[in-house]
Amino acid sequence: MTELKVPVAVPAEGPPRLDATQLPVCSRHGAPAARRVDLAAKWLPAPGELPDLPASPRWMPLARMGDLAGRMGAATYVQLAGWPLCADCARTRRRWSALTRAVLGLGVVLLLAVVVLRLALGEPVGWLMAPLLGGAALVLLSVLPFSRGSLATLTGTTCTRDTSAVLVQDPHPAFVAALQGDLR
Ligand SMILES: [Zn+2]
Repeated sequence: MTELKVPVAVPAEGPPRLDATQLPVCSRHGAPAARRVDLAAKWLPAPGELPDLPASPRWMPLARMGDLAGRMGAATYVQLAGWPLCADCARTRRRWSALTRAVLGLGVVLLLAVVVLRLALGEPVGWLMAPLLGGAALVLLSVLPFSRGSLATLTGTTCTRDTSAVLVQDPHPAFVAALQGDLR
């Protein structure tokens, strides 16, 4: 796994920002840009990385979710403007977004159906538990395709804690060459 470090100039004012509108190819495949997107490259501390943030043990999932909220509060960001996505990247994003909508939509429909049926029946019935749990599980599961199709995952971008550089995970050689040519 390689990591490319792209320096980010310290802005005179406002949040740190990297203009990628001149980059001709995507970072994953090195293919021509079919679309451009704005996203935030993020630094998120690992569990236990910051001594003042708690790192709960693995067997306490709820406490760990609370930890994550704390770590997200400590996250730093670099705005990426006009980041290139090739046709392949764009297609991947569309597919994962469609799957996210389908899974989330089905979960919400199941939960609403449970509410409507419960009101219509006027009394608690045991068999409503199955669609209730199924709907809740689908809503939670929709996080997986959402994360796979997120721009951060697609572009493989994060940043350093001090926001002085954007990090690109496993960049395509054509992207590296374009970037070096651009910075020269
Ligand atoms: Zn691509």
